[in-house]
Amino acid sequence: MEYEINTFDKLLSICKEKNKKIYEIMQEKEAFDFETSVENVREKVYKNILAMKSAIKNGIKSKEKSYSGLCGDDCNKLVERYKNKKAIFGSIFENIIKYSIATMEENLRMNKIVACPTAGSCGIVPAVIVGLSEAIDLDKEEEINALITAGTIGYIVSSKVSMAGAVAGCQAECGVASMMAASAASQIMGANEEQIIQAAALAIKNLLGLTCDPVGGLVEIPCVKRNAFFAVHAITAAELALADIYSKIPPDEVVDAMVQTGQLMSPLLKETSKGGLAYTKSGICISKEIVGKYANGS
Ligand code: SF4
Repeated sequence: MEYEINTFDKLLSICKEKNKKIYEIMQEKEAFDFETSVENVREKVYKNILAMKSAIKNGIKSKEKSYSGLCGDDCNKLVERYKNKKAIFGSIFENIIKYSIATMEENLRMNKIVACPTAGSCGIVPAVIVGLSEAIDLDKEEEINALITAGTIGYIVSSKVSMAGAVAGCQAECGVASMMAASAASQIMGANEEQIIQAAALAIKNLLGLTCDPVGGLVEIPCVKRNAFFAVHAITAAELALADIYSKIPPDEVVDAMVQTGQLMSPLLKETSKGGLAYTKSGICISKEIVGKYANGS
């Protein structure tokens, strides 16, 4: 199906016109654009889900630190905590924060992850899809549907702005990942197409202006923990949308606001490590230690 889909309005109108779900429209578009079958598209998506699950599994087992030594053992701390304690919001919450950090720690160990949309925000979508899938026992097809929907949201946003902290701040990385995860979560929980898009809009609306200020220029501080926070944020957005609590600013305009906010953001807060957390006294100190470590090759 030859569709040009670059706004949420357009996506919704196609869904209505064809009486199809978001994932159905997108898988047909992908099959058409890449001259393949819908079955092949879905199998490719499933390979990504398997890779996400594998990163989670490996991340939960490992305590290995990153080369900088700054991060790598936080997931293990959660694993230890939950051996004899319950998370405040129960086991789904427990798994979602654990899985997001497990995946990000695999990323900083340079192991295989699925960038969704970027490596720095790779923990959010897998944590939400896999966490919910385990909780309510989704089958393979439902997992695929959820990831295609999440990908559709990212696809539309990417037609307006580059998903890079260096271009639009962390709102374009963790923010977009949270949008994608919110759409997947709402779909998994039975949302209609409008609610799915609203979930995405609510998620990014409450992350506008999120700066990219990684300490020492490494995708570690604050990135790892940020993934856990915005995986949970996605669930809040999904819950609101499922209750028909919508954004008063239409979803496409919310994305426009995100793009404009990125343009207005100081370059000091866009992955240059010259502002925000990276430029605190401790951030600079950590950065100098890392530079020394790399210079010594130790
Ligand atoms: S703070 Fe910057 S480097 Fe870290 S995840 Fe966000 S956008 Fe990526």
